[in-house]
Amino acid sequence: MTTGAAAVLAGPPAAGAVIAAAAALAATLPTPPHLVIVRVGDDPASVSYVRGKAKKAAESGLRSTVHALPEDTTQAEVLGLIATLNADLDVHGILVQLPLPGLISEDAVLEAIHPGKDVDGLHPMNVGRLWSGRPTLAPCTPAGVMAMLAHYGLPVAGQRVVIVGRSRLVGRPLAGLMLAADATVTVAHSRTRDLGAVTREADIVVAAVGRAHLITPDMVRPGAVVIDVGINRVTGPDGKGHLTGDVHPDVVAVASAVSPVPGGVGPMTVAQLMMNTVLAASQQTAGGMGERVL
Ligand code: NAP
Repeated sequence: MTTGAAAVLAGPPAAGAVIAAAAALAATLPTPPHLVIVRVGDDPASVSYVRGKAKKAAESGLRSTVHALPEDTTQAEVLGLIATLNADLDVHGILVQLPLPGLISEDAVLEAIHPGKDVDGLHPMNVGRLWSGRPTLAPCTPAGVMAMLAHYGLPVAGQRVVIVGRSRLVGRPLAGLMLAADATVTVAHSRTRDLGAVTREADIVVAAVGRAHLITPDMVRPGAVVIDVGINRVTGPDGKGHLTGDVHPDVVAVASAVSPVPGGVGPMTVAQLMMNTVLAASQQTAGGMGERVL
């Protein structure tokens, strides 16, 4: 690996700032915000993610409840639980951990969550609000990327941003947030021709693909900022599994700043979930569920 001059955009300090801001807002509310996480089945990654989110909620002064449902849970049962949680005034945020087992429609489940409690920001109403430039609960990973750039004082307005990946979880909503922040945005994907020519035009490259080391030094303009959202499990030379990003390690020799994996965007995502839960609770306290103020 080349040792370069790029600044490391470490996630934990930036995530700590988001958590502190969330805790400060939570302290103004009559009760600690309550996040409910629904997990179906025993996918090991989902079990680990949910455990991490509940732990961070406790550390942040939030209440959390995890509903761990068996793999053979029906869609009707999940929808029934969501209806109960929607109606419960003591529940401020609802997160259904994805992916769901095959027979359950993710669209049906995401659309069943009350938009005001949709702390993952994936309900079509919240997606529409994001793209119409209105305040909303934005998906946590893209919101975390924006918070990371802000924390490190990296400007977005007027910058050329290339996002590689167009998923509804990361690439698309990030494009909406970047546009709202006055960036000039290009979204690349698996059908993009000459990806390197596209990414070389960027002041800020965001990789959200899920392919280890896809973004190589020759694809990055010298001095660009590179945000690595990818999480890939690979086997190292020692035969052990470890996590790596979508950005090749040698990119540090070309870029001005790079976010690491692990320890970059991952902590920002969890921090932003806490912020979204507090924002949802704040909105419900201010306006009631029938009268959205967010
Ligand atoms: P996804 O739904 O699989 O989407 C991947 C995107 O990458 C798609 O838009 C796909 O294009 C595009 N793509 C695939 N191969 C490509 C190539 N060779 N060149 C250019 N684009 C290509 O994945 P996701 O949910 O967005 O997640 C992306 C990565 O981020 C994964 O590694 C995931 O684990 C990670 N992630 C991290 C966090 C975090 O907290 N750090 C959170 C969420 C996700 P098409 O649309 O054309 O298929």
